[in-house]
Amino acid sequence: MPIAKTKSKTAAKKQPKTSPASRATHGPLAPERIAAILKALDEAYPAAECALVHRSPWELLVATILSAQCTDVRVNLVTPELFRRFPTPAAMAQATLPELEELIRTTGFFHNKAKSIQGAAKKIVAEFGGQVPETLAELITLPGVARKTASVVLGVCFGKAEGVVVDTHVLRIAHRLDLAKTETPEKVEQELMRILPPSRWIDFSHQIIHHGREICAARKPHCDRCNLEPLCASKDKTWQS
Ligand code: SF4
Repeated sequence: MPIAKTKSKTAAKKQPKTSPASRATHGPLAPERIAAILKALDEAYPAAECALVHRSPWELLVATILSAQCTDVRVNLVTPELFRRFPTPAAMAQATLPELEELIRTTGFFHNKAKSIQGAAKKIVAEFGGQVPETLAELITLPGVARKTASVVLGVCFGKAEGVVVDTHVLRIAHRLDLAKTETPEKVEQELMRILPPSRWIDFSHQIIHHGREICAARKPHCDRCNLEPLCASKDKTWQS
């Protein structure tokens, strides 16, 4: 019947409007694949933690600011003396910029970093009673503290998952594992937050950062030693099982 034909044509035209959720059941974002990746990460890095040495939220905040464009190893060499001289926000608020610059010089960009940590110390003393605030909204008002630094402190020190920390390792490996398509850390974070359970946001970053340092290196990944290899279809792979 003509009417029935018209209806079935219309229905056929509407079919391609597949929802993102239903697409995700088969592609790289299928829940089974995400679960397998998380399981493999747990097996490879059961105790992955933040590599920046710290004894308090304040020390981690400062160490994270210093880690911009610098290795964690280098930051860990600098912070013991920095915190011996200026152990609290109140003490660091009294430090002069030349004093701070001298202590953190080897982490690079030391003029800006000294201003940031001195400014953060002053603001914490003046507006937060000398304690590092525990919310994202407050943390990002501190000089030198953007969303990534705030997420590190909230996740590691306060167990609050406000986001997924996307550093250079997480950015690279999210692309290699086909977990994200966008280019900026901010957008990749949003993609990861959509596909990972919030309970995994903190650990996932730590595990992937370890994976990036130990196995999935930027220039020559050690795919022959990677337990994620069966799940990875990256064009950067150096070995195929
Ligand atoms: S298989 Fe290679 S490229 Fe893929 S995650 Fe492992 S080390 Fe990285």
